[in-house]
Amino acid sequence: MGAALASLEVAFGLDGLYCPRCGRVIFDDEISWDESTCPHVRFVRDWVGELWIAEPASVPAHQHAYQSWLAARLEGGLQELSIGDLAHRLPDSCLLLTVAEPGPRRDRGGATVTVALDLDPTAEAR
Ligand SMILES: [Zn+2]
Repeated sequence: MGAALASLEVAFGLDGLYCPRCGRVIFDDEISWDESTCPHVRFVRDWVGELWIAEPASVPAHQHAYQSWLAARLEGGLQELSIGDLAHRLPDSCLLLTVAEPGPRRDRGGATVTVALDLDPTAEAR
């Protein structure tokens, strides 16, 4: 098994993305991600390729191992890692969501955001 994969294509941009577990904002027009927004986010690669990774020390103790692996692996570049391989290495409780936006943002060098969430009820980061 591994993480569930989902991909969306949003024709005219995405005003906001909200966690399916807690309903808190992951990002919107004004807020970008950190532990103070949604505690289920494990990493976000944004429209321009910038990567944010949850600190392994800030996730529950039983998730330190995979979050440490994830942080180390992502430092090598997400583009060098297939989403399928990544999903296979993450727990079943994870969701890997890719949102693609055709149109203007693609011209600015990035049109895809990738978000990894751990939706386990005990997955809230501290
Ligand atoms: Zn959440």
